[in-house]
Amino acid sequence: TQELHIIGGGMAGSEAAWQAANMGVNVVIHEMRPQVETFAHRTGHLAEMVCSNSFRSDDDEQNAVGLLHWEMRAANGLIMATADKHRLPAGGALAVDRDPFAQSVTETLLALPSVRVEYGEITELPTDGHWIIATGPLTSAGLGAAIQAETGAERLAFFDAIAPIVYADSIDMDIAWMQSRYDKGETEEEQKAYLNCPMTKDQHEAFIDALLAADKTEFHEGETAGYFDGCLPIEVMAERGRETLRHGPMKPVGLTNAHKPDEKAYAVVQLRRDNALGTLYNIVGFQTKMKYGAQNEVFRMIPGLENASFARLGGIHRNTFINSPTLLDNQMRLKSRPNIRFAGQVTGVEGYVESAAMGLLAGRLAAAEILGKSMETAPLNTAMGALVHHITGGAEAKTFQPMNVNFGLFQPVDGLKGGRRGRKDRYKAYTDRAKGEWQSWLETYS
Ligand code: FAD
Repeated sequence: TQELHIIGGGMAGSEAAWQAANMGVNVVIHEMRPQVETFAHRTGHLAEMVCSNSFRSDDDEQNAVGLLHWEMRAANGLIMATADKHRLPAGGALAVDRDPFAQSVTETLLALPSVRVEYGEITELPTDGHWIIATGPLTSAGLGAAIQAETGAERLAFFDAIAPIVYADSIDMDIAWMQSRYDKGETEEEQKAYLNCPMTKDQHEAFIDALLAADKTEFHEGETAGYFDGCLPIEVMAERGRETLRHGPMKPVGLTNAHKPDEKAYAVVQLRRDNALGTLYNIVGFQTKMKYGAQNEVFRMIPGLENASFARLGGIHRNTFINSPTLLDNQMRLKSRPNIRFAGQVTGVEGYVESAAMGLLAGRLAAAEILGKSMETAPLNTAMGALVHHITGGAEAKTFQPMNVNFGLFQPVDGLKGGRRGRKDRYKAYTDRAKGEWQSWLETYS
């Protein structure tokens, strides 16, 4: 029988190994630690949590990451079972005792006769056999260069530059309007790609003051600020001059306020559609190192966003990820070399849970292929499926940035009230639908 090789024994690689081994496939994990270290990892354990010890909300009825927990538990996930075993009290969140957790994942995998760990860094793309690359946000430089040689340099990023993402239904459309600058865009669809929020001079001045005063996060030790001029944090742009943003992402030209055609806005904040469903919009050019609390306050000063709900807040981190929407098929295979799959954070998902989830799916898909069985990718209406469809197709390839799981990635359920007031029922409907579809996917391919 053929072996499955997994590069990287982190969250994704460990889960992928477990799933494939349980399906009867022999697995070799190639892990560079402890021989080669990263600036964030501290141990040689598999599945080390590098920063916070939280798996976030465990609410599987009202929260998308909680739903992903549920789906992984239903799929006999090793990362979730081990997190549950080493759970710490943290209210509605799932906090994990990190060292015993990583130790336990390592021991469980090493105890399986079908799993072997080979320690050492891999720096070449494998030419034959079945492989999963799950090398995470701190993929070693050598392997990064090999990936770039295959995909083109521009399709592998070393930093993310995440602009905040807003739920479309929380934007006040009595203030914002839809228009692309200079009415560019051939089709009606393209013209609908942008929303605009106007600012008066006073609103602009107050906004710049708030940006300058806001609390910011520092880069982690060892993580140097490598961003380039094209994606400076907005607060850094504001520090360069109070008018810099008005000449950059907040320029008011080429736009006419649909609600007040005679009034010229002093500045305009633009939002761009972030997914094919049209449920998410990102604030164009607003990558930031402001702390989350500050972002919530400062961004709600933007007219039209007073009641905005954020699917994710902005950030800039050292983060290696590929342009999955162009490079991967929905089986998570590299289109140009289908013997290689990608999984985990390097695919452009973000977070321990999402990374482990992509490992779970890739491990099962790869094992099925080795065993000569056909397996469809995760169904669209599950949390797993919403995420994999987003990264391998739903997301805009040109502006692709890492994504957390969130309900904005889900297809609407018919006949439910939109807006903030219907949210609770809507989320319950999403999670009910997801659980049903995930169970039947699991049964189909068990
Ligand atoms: P990892 O868990 O990083 O696993 C990848 C593995 O591949 C590592 O063990 C690495 O040693 C190995 N590897 C890399 N290159 C090679 C190679 N060439 N050959 C062999 N092995 C290799 N997420 C959160 O949810 N919460 C947080 O608080 C958080 N904080 C973070 C802080 C920092 C500084 C960083 C960098 C990331 C943080 N993340 C956080 C993201 C977090 O790293 C991921 O969510 C998660 O660990 C990704 O899982 P993964 O399996 O994709 O990658």
